[in-house]
Amino acid sequence: MQGQSFNSSTNLMNLILKDIPSEAGISRVEYEGPRIALYTKNPKFLMENNYIISDIVNTVKKRVILRIEKVVRKSEDEARKILMNVIPKEAGVTNVFFDDALGEVIIEAKRPNSIINNNFNSIELVNEIGWKIKIRKAPHIPSTSMSNIYYTLKSSAEDRERIYKTIGERIFRPRILSDSEITLLTLGGFGQVGRSCMLLETSESKVLIDCGIHPGSRNPLESYPRLDWVDIDLDELDAVIISHAHLDHSGFLPVLYKYGYDGPVYCSEPTLPLMVLLLTDFIKVASMQGDYAPYDMRDIREMIKHCITLPYSLVTDISPDIKLVLNNAGHILGSSIIHLHIGEGAHNVIYTGDYKFERTLLFESAVWNYPRAETLITESTYGSKEDIMPNREEAENDFVNKINETLKEGGKVLIPVPAVGRAQEIMLVLDRYMRMGKLIEVPIFIEGMISEATAIHVAYPEYLARDLRSKILEEDTNPFVSEYFTIIEHPSNRDEALREGPALIMATSGMLEGGPVLEYFKELATSDKNKILFVSYQINGTLGRRILDGAREVNLINEDGKIKVVNINCKVEKVEGFSGHSDYNQIMRFVAKLRPKLRRIIVAHGEKKKIENMARVLSRMFKIPTFQPDIQEAIKLR
Ligand SMILES: [Zn+2]
Repeated sequence: MQGQSFNSSTNLMNLILKDIPSEAGISRVEYEGPRIALYTKNPKFLMENNYIISDIVNTVKKRVILRIEKVVRKSEDEARKILMNVIPKEAGVTNVFFDDALGEVIIEAKRPNSIINNNFNSIELVNEIGWKIKIRKAPHIPSTSMSNIYYTLKSSAEDRERIYKTIGERIFRPRILSDSEITLLTLGGFGQVGRSCMLLETSESKVLIDCGIHPGSRNPLESYPRLDWVDIDLDELDAVIISHAHLDHSGFLPVLYKYGYDGPVYCSEPTLPLMVLLLTDFIKVASMQGDYAPYDMRDIREMIKHCITLPYSLVTDISPDIKLVLNNAGHILGSSIIHLHIGEGAHNVIYTGDYKFERTLLFESAVWNYPRAETLITESTYGSKEDIMPNREEAENDFVNKINETLKEGGKVLIPVPAVGRAQEIMLVLDRYMRMGKLIEVPIFIEGMISEATAIHVAYPEYLARDLRSKILEEDTNPFVSEYFTIIEHPSNRDEALREGPALIMATSGMLEGGPVLEYFKELATSDKNKILFVSYQINGTLGRRILDGAREVNLINEDGKIKVVNINCKVEKVEGFSGHSDYNQIMRFVAKLRPKLRRIIVAHGEKKKIENMARVLSRMFKIPTFQPDIQEAIKLR
C-alpha cells in the first residue's frame, strides 16, 4: 500500500483524518460498504459542526458517515425508555428498531412529522443515548416483509459488520489500470422480455445488472439468465445492481447467494422489501403447484444481509472504477434507471430498466437529465409503431366503460393485477370513479399480496408522486384505503366475492401464473356474463398471454392435484394506457432528450419484432449507432 496514487486506501484514510479537529475524538476509521465510517465516543461535536464532514466529502469525493462507538451506546431498553419519554403520543410509534451493526435506531411512526416538528432535539438525544436516530413513516398495516427484514438484520448484526468491511475493502482497493476497456455481456432479457440480466466488465471490475427469471418458461435454459455462458466465478463479482423488484429483474438473485456469492446487491430502498415480498411469494406459489423453486428462505435472508439500499440520485462507489447512481424510473415503487459512471468519467452507461416516461397517479415521470451518457440501454416493451397508448383520460374512460358494461348485466369483472405497481394505480382509479358516480357502485374485492405491497408503498412516501406523498405525510390520509374495498384475507372468504350479483375482483398474479386470481378465474370464466379485464403487459408464454391471444379452453391444476379443464366463455378484454412501461412515443421522447451525448443505443427487453422496429427507427431518426443483441453476445463499449 505504498503507492502514491490518491486511490491508495491508506492515503485516503490519512486525507480524511488530516482535516478533522481533535475535539471530534475520532477513535477509528472503518470501511462500511461503499461508505467510510468515522467512529467517535463524542458524536456531539461533529453533529454540531456538520460542515466538517461535508467538507471531507467534497475533498475525497467519497461517502463519509459518522458512527458512534459501541461502548457509549446505552442499552436498548434504556435508550428506548428515553426515546419514548420525549416522543409525543400522537406520533403513533409502531416500531423501534436498533441496528447494532450500524449503531442506528429506526423509529417508525404513523405521523413522523409530529416528532420532527415537536422540538425534537436530535443532537442532544443522540448524545444521550449513543445511537443515531432515523425517523420513518410506518406502514398503515404491519408489513410482514419489513418485519422479516428487521428480524434478519437483527440476527445478523455481527456478520453484517464483517460483510460491510469486506465490501468496503474491495471497493476502495487501489486501481491497477488507468485506462479501461468496457464490455457488456448479455445474459437474459435481450431479444426477449423476461430474465433480464447482463454483465458489465471493465479491466478492473465485474458488475451484474439485474438478475431475473422468465415467468413464462419451465425449462432452466430458458427461464434463468445464462450465467453459465460467461463462466464467472461469483467471487470475482464486485456488485449486483437490481433495477426494480419485479421477478423478471430480480427473481434469480437469491440463487447467487445460494451458490456462495458474498458480495453486495445494490437497489433503491423500497426495492428490498418489495423483492422480499415477491421472492417469498414465488417460493410459496411454487410449492403449492408442486413446481421447483431454485432457492429457499435461507437464500433470501442472505440476500437481505448483503443488500445495500440507496436513495435516488446519490453517487456511490461500487468498485475502484465504477460509480453508481439510481434515479426514478416511474415504473413501480423504487424502480430505478441505473447510471454507471466508469473510470473517472471516461464512459457513462444509462440502463433504463423498465421505465415510464410520463407522470402517473403513483409516480413522477422517469428522470431524463443525466450530466453524461455515452451508452444507453433501453427497454422496448412497447417498441412498435402500433404501441401508441391512449392518453390517461381515454384509458380511464375505456376502463370505466368496459367495467360498467359487465356490471350492468349483473356480471363480475376479474382484474388480474401484479401485486406491485398496477394494483395500487388501479385502486386509486376505481375509488376515484366510484366516488364521482361514474363507475357503478359495487363491492370491490381485493386478494393476493396487494395489501402487503400497498403497506410498503405507504412506508416509502418519498418515492411516490408529489400529491400522494403530501397526502400520506402531511394530511395523514391513506389514499389506498376506500369504503368500497373489501380485502379477502383468507381463501375461505372467497365465497363472499363469488356470491350472486355484480362485483369487481382484483387478484394476483397479473399474468395468471399462479396466485388467487386462478381460483376466481376457474369460477368466473365459464359464464358469458363475466369479464376478465387485463390492465398490464402479458409476457409471451404466460397463461394470461394465451388467454388474451384467444385461447378458449385451458388446463389448470386443482388443489387436489388433478387437471381441470376450464372453458372460457366469459369476455376477455384489455385496457391499454395503464401500463408502467413507456409507449412508443415516450421511448422516442426519452431518447431525444439524451441524444446530444449518446454514442450508441442498445435496444433490449422487448419481443423481437418490437426491438427490431425500435432499433431501426432510433438509428434513422437520431443517426446514432443502434444495437439489438440477442442473449449470449458481447458488445465492446470502449
Ligand atoms: Zn417491471
